[in-house]
Amino acid sequence: SLFNRNMADPRAERTFLAVKPDGVQRGLVGEIISRFEKRGYKLGSRQIRLVVEPVKILIFFLQPSKDLLHNHYAELSSKPFFPGLIEYMSSGPVFAMVWEGTDVVSVGRKMLGATNPRESPIGTIRGDFAIDVGRNICHGSDSVGTAEREIALWFTPDEVVSYGLAQKKWIYE
Ligand code: GDP
Ligand code: MG
Repeated sequence: SLFNRNMADPRAERTFLAVKPDGVQRGLVGEIISRFEKRGYKLGSRQIRLVVEPVKILIFFLQPSKDLLHNHYAELSSKPFFPGLIEYMSSGPVFAMVWEGTDVVSVGRKMLGATNPRESPIGTIRGDFAIDVGRNICHGSDSVGTAEREIALWFTPDEVVSYGLAQKKWIYE
């Protein structure tokens, strides 16, 4: 099969990306996916998890629980903005993804831009589409270790997939 479950290449670097509730509401899921696709990175997660609400479109999304978000942002729990961050992140569906490719963690962070969109260069996702730090539309893991932790938190092993990208030899030398 061209599409195998549980056969993730252990050497491939992976990152966890999420379009936050504001990015989903503002119709930026396609734009963010498109930038990673055009860069040459490979989508490495399936999006078929059923969520609690019986609304069909949510099949592609994950409505994160507060428990999941407390875990995800554990290191920020003492910050004054933490309660607002949890409210913001749980306010609607999130489009969670795994992306794979060389240095995808650090390059992905550069593509997202700075945490504060107003300090983020034009051309980055946050620099092009956001204004406030508390509405910065996307998440990306900040290190390879964090990425592993976040992927395991947000996805079951079965949802992380492996397949060959036909254009690989035209992207990598
Ligand atoms: P990131 O890795 O660039 O997403 O930034 P952090 O891990 O430092 O913070 C996680 C998220 O918390 C950010 O993306 C913002 O949505 C939010 N955040 C960070 N700092 C602030 C802040 O000073 N004020 C508010 N309101 N939100 C913040
Ligand atoms: Mg972070």
